Amino acid sequence: MLWTSATKLGGAAFSGTLDDMSLFRDEKDVVHIAPLQVQGIASVTMPNICEVNGTASTDVTYRCVRCLTECTRSLDIVIHEVLSRTPLTAAQEEADVFYAPEETIDLEPLIEQALVLAIEVQPLCRDDCRGLCSECGTDLNVSTCVCHVQQVDPRLQALSRFYDVSKTEE
Ligand SMILES: [Zn+2]
Ligand SMILES: [Zn+2]
Repeated sequence: MLWTSATKLGGAAFSGTLDDMSLFRDEKDVVHIAPLQVQGIASVTMPNICEVNGTASTDVTYRCVRCLTECTRSLDIVIHEVLSRTPLTAAQEEADVFYAPEETIDLEPLIEQALVLAIEVQPLCRDDCRGLCSECGTDLNVSTCVCHVQQVDPRLQALSRFYDVSKTEE
């Protein structure tokens, strides 16, 4: 992508694939990211200012932080970034404008930034994932264990409360 091509009326369309799995190599919650399908338009809207609008789509395989099951979800990222060919003003820096002084505009860093922001933090296989039992490791989504089950007969509840109290007093 060149500044001169983005200057023409209607901007310059771009499309392609981008493999960004290496960005998340150390991220144990992110198991895999399929190559991103990227497309959009870059257009110079003001002298030395280029606006990039587009989308990036991929499938992300997460590892649920509660039950450690892998789950794959599609991810559609909206890209809207502004690049400046001249050194950034304080206000532009504040607004996360990219500094792109070269004739060739490298779209990868801004797509990667959008991807990093879109990746889920603390991913769950589903909102109400019950996770693994902290005592025995049973996946509580598929079965139950007895570690935390308190099936207390109502008649014994007063007694169990008594035990709880005596336990905390120890
Ligand atoms: Zn889960
Ligand atoms: Zn258990």
